[in-house]
Amino acid sequence: MSRLGIRWVVVYFLSILVPAALLAFLSVRSLRDVHDSVQRELRSKAVLVQDAFDRLINSRTQLLSAYIEDGAMDPRLYAGFSEIAQIFAVDPTGVLRHPSVQPLRLQERSVAFAAQMEKAAELEFGHQDWAGGVQLYRQAWKEAASPAEEAEALNALARCAYKRKDMAIVEGAHQTLAALYGPVLDADGAHPATLSHLRLGRYAAPEQAQASLMAWTEALLEGRYPLYAGCQQALQEARTLAQGRLADMEDRPVLLERLALIEKTLDFAVRFGPVLGDQWATAQEQGYISGVWPDGTSFLMYLGAAEGGGAVGILFDWDALTALVQEQVEDLTERDFALALFDADAEAAFLAAHRETIYETGPASRWMDRVRLGIWAADTSAATGYYRTRNYLVGGGIFALAVSVVLGGLMILRDAGREVQVARLRSEFVANVSHELRTPLTSIRMYAETLLMGRYRSDEQRQDYLTTLLHESQRLSRLVDNVLDFARIERGDRTYQRQPCDLGDTARAALETFGGVFAAEGFEVEEAIAEELPPVLADQEAVEGAVANILGNAVKYSSEHKAIRLAVEQRGAEVVVEVADRGIGLPAGEEERIFEQFRRGANAASTAGTGLGLSLVKSVVEAHEGRVEAINRPDGGSVFRLYFPVHTEDKAHA
Ligand code: ADP
Repeated sequence: MSRLGIRWVVVYFLSILVPAALLAFLSVRSLRDVHDSVQRELRSKAVLVQDAFDRLINSRTQLLSAYIEDGAMDPRLYAGFSEIAQIFAVDPTGVLRHPSVQPLRLQERSVAFAAQMEKAAELEFGHQDWAGGVQLYRQAWKEAASPAEEAEALNALARCAYKRKDMAIVEGAHQTLAALYGPVLDADGAHPATLSHLRLGRYAAPEQAQASLMAWTEALLEGRYPLYAGCQQALQEARTLAQGRLADMEDRPVLLERLALIEKTLDFAVRFGPVLGDQWATAQEQGYISGVWPDGTSFLMYLGAAEGGGAVGILFDWDALTALVQEQVEDLTERDFALALFDADAEAAFLAAHRETIYETGPASRWMDRVRLGIWAADTSAATGYYRTRNYLVGGGIFALAVSVVLGGLMILRDAGREVQVARLRSEFVANVSHELRTPLTSIRMYAETLLMGRYRSDEQRQDYLTTLLHESQRLSRLVDNVLDFARIERGDRTYQRQPCDLGDTARAALETFGGVFAAEGFEVEEAIAEELPPVLADQEAVEGAVANILGNAVKYSSEHKAIRLAVEQRGAEVVVEVADRGIGLPAGEEERIFEQFRRGANAASTAGTGLGLSLVKSVVEAHEGRVEAINRPDGGSVFRLYFPVHTEDKAHA
């Protein structure tokens, strides 16, 4: 590549790449600005969320204290607050008091009580003597030494009396059990009052049965009866009754609802009881407990000190709490921001999930420092969308620039290549012309000297020498004509005097100038010029020159088989001048290119020439609105055809 080319390439690359780099830099900076401003907005939103969160917790704790002062722990009271999952009470030692699961405690029965009960059971089950059984059980109750023994005896009494269908005793025993022995479990870890309620549910008349189950669930919800190990089974049995024997009862939906609520409460007691016990010391200090379950969900329990030690608390439902906070901070959803509340231990999971979005994390509360807040611009937010679009635009722009740089570079390279080629052709041309001039001049001088000195043997030889002189000077003048024509065409002042003429005559004239050459070199010449040819608007001299160039080539590129055929005929609206030879043929694949300036075929290496002839032929023919064609003959040699449009009157007037 030339030095000029390299300089252009450098200038080109710099002029594209410098602005591209600047653009990329500015875009990246503005992207960062957008990112920063969204983050600032998130930070200010986080402060609002913090306020809303603290306000919410405060209002719920005030509500809670009101309940506690009333001594009411019934879960139905806060059922309307979706964010409160459970209210509970803890005793001063950290044991969950309500709801509480009574541990299974097998108490020692006194020997006397056990013997008494055994005797009674013997009558009840062995002899089916229910009257006797009732008597003995009553005896055992009276002699019982502890509430557990009393409750157990009463429960057995009611059972036996039921078998005797003595409903007065059954009800009396049941009422005593329900009123006096509410939270007491018997020696087997069962709750006699619960057993009694279920018994009535199973056997009493539907109305009484329903009343018994409703009273039982009420007592459980109010915390008068304990939740204990066997409760799950008792709840199951009650549900079976509600669906079977008592399916038609009026309060059935209420009963089922209560059973579900009790089950939830029991579940809380089983799950959170141990957690509270373990963390009691820190919990008292910080006023809340939070953590993460094995399934990855967080929990938060607020704790408020209760009178006489211990605490009351709220277990929050995170999802509902989050939704509520989001609702309270206006325009949070409007602007497509979303938030999450979680325990500090769950922060890593949040960060992993939001790596792709613009987010901010911080404390969700001013006093619960384990409670964290994550806030982010949701995926569809205008900010993120903008951010993304900008990314694509910058990427696309830089890609387009890179493509144009490469394409431009290629174009420069191609141009530079062409430039080099033209320069090479030109210098070859100068050498060729000098050579072409020298050859005929040398032979003209030589023959002229020979003749002047009279060095010829006969008149015939003198004639030969003179003919050669003539041919050489003709060749010389054709060459000079070609060079002058070329110069005129290059300057743009080659003009044509066109008038209607018969191309047959023109072609014949060209052929005649070669008469001597043909004869001297032994060419077989065939002339096939049609008689009646339509006129062509032509510059006769120029066309004759063109035909002479073609004929000259035919002579030049013929070797052994020297035969030339010149034909002129009409084909459609055109008159065709055709020169066919039996020479070396056209170089393969170069049939078009040989008409270019300075272009010499691969077959012309051993023949002198300038590469001008055919290019002149082409420009003459094209100046006549015609076209040229060169093809190889299948049986050797080549054919050149010059097509000229027929001159019509219409055109003359046009
Ligand atoms: P020059 O003959 O001076 O090389 P031209 O422009 O007349 O230049 O011809 C261009 C090229 O076309 C020649 O170099 C040669 O390769 C090819 N050519 C022209 N005429 C013939 C022909 N009659 N037979 C074979 N090749 C030809």
